Amino acid sequence: MNGAYMMPYDLKLQGRILLTMNPAREILEDGVILIKDGVIHDIGPVRHFESAEAKKHLIYPQGLIMPGLVNTHTHLPMSCFRGLADDLPLKRWLEDFIFPAESRFIDPHTAYWGSLLSLAEMMLSGTTCCADGYFLEHHVALAVEKSGLRAVLAQGIIDFPAPGVPDPAENLTAASRFISEWQGRCPRIQPALFCHSTVTCSSDTLMRAKALGQKFGVLFFLHLAETQGEVEKIDRLHGKSPTAYVDSLGILDSRTVGVHCVWLNDRDMDIFARQGIKVSHTPESEMKLASGVTPIVDLVERGIVTSLGTDGCASNNDLDMFQEMDVAAKLQKVHRLDSTALSAETVVWMSTMGGALTLGLDKYIGSLEKGKRADIIVLNLRKPHLVPLYDYYSHLVYAAKGSDVESVVVDGEVLVENGKPTRLDLEEIMDQGTEIGRRIREKL
Ligand SMILES: [Zn+2]
Repeated sequence: MNGAYMMPYDLKLQGRILLTMNPAREILEDGVILIKDGVIHDIGPVRHFESAEAKKHLIYPQGLIMPGLVNTHTHLPMSCFRGLADDLPLKRWLEDFIFPAESRFIDPHTAYWGSLLSLAEMMLSGTTCCADGYFLEHHVALAVEKSGLRAVLAQGIIDFPAPGVPDPAENLTAASRFISEWQGRCPRIQPALFCHSTVTCSSDTLMRAKALGQKFGVLFFLHLAETQGEVEKIDRLHGKSPTAYVDSLGILDSRTVGVHCVWLNDRDMDIFARQGIKVSHTPESEMKLASGVTPIVDLVERGIVTSLGTDGCASNNDLDMFQEMDVAAKLQKVHRLDSTALSAETVVWMSTMGGALTLGLDKYIGSLEKGKRADIIVLNLRKPHLVPLYDYYSHLVYAAKGSDVESVVVDGEVLVENGKPTRLDLEEIMDQGTEIGRRIREKL
């Protein structure tokens, strides 16, 4: 016996297919991953590791093992508003329904339980890491800590009274407090900042927020170039496109994540490439709110890092990244009238390595490689809609669903085993979500 194999690993994961998303895009049949202290210690064919001992050995003869999905844009507490207001113009939806509902109903209790509801949905459908942008982010962070998922959590900044920050003059102080509290507190949580948009934050707010982000060395998220209305307003006020305007403020760099990025001209895309801005594409939200279609193919061709997000539950209305992948690929095809646009393999990359790069976590997650943190999901391939199987990427994007996810590992910890969460009490979370919905309906 090889000496190294005497060491008991914490976890041995074994499956029919191991899709690594490593730089060579290796796919192994009958593969094994060995995990110790939350790290992928070794990876390869079963026959190489037959004698490897582990405290826990999970075998999936029909399992496809792959990196956990990375959702680069969401608003976790908004699951409280799932289906509250649909089929409305974005401006009316936001100003007449979402902003008033947030000011009346988002408090520490609803932020916490709404987040847990979202996190439960996410982990059960294969997301192991998400980027959130919202208010009362401290309570979102408490929910994430309880769930065991990995997350980048960005305190929201907006020039209006917001949950937890009734006086907008205090929004940077609140953001600073949140970052100080969570930086280095929980290894799976990175604090960050999220400016709501170019039309809800002044130039001064945007610049001061970015300076604060630079001081702490955290990511800066911004809803950018989402609607034609934003383009018209910024043109009227500043004589520029939203992207050229924020570039002129000096707030764009490789630690900036542009969310939506629908209305971009060629010069805007050159700015993205030059400044190294990362893109979070949220196709279902953009379709539902009729915002437009992000030019993802053009961004990819320019070498700009792109990733996928679900956006919040009020504009999607679910957090299933498999559905998002399917829509992302098909939307580009119909928009460009080109069935070769945005291949399934590119979309799987966007949801794994692309997400990790967007969040600056590519050294740690996004692929199954030795030395990376063990953020892994297992799908059950023994389903009628997944038979027969010719191409793994095609199956993941066009046929698989979040409900095919059987087990989920984050940082080496099994958070979902055979469809059941190990940490979270689903019944309690759904009861709390139902009760919050009942109270909101009663008061509206
Ligand atoms: Zn959003």
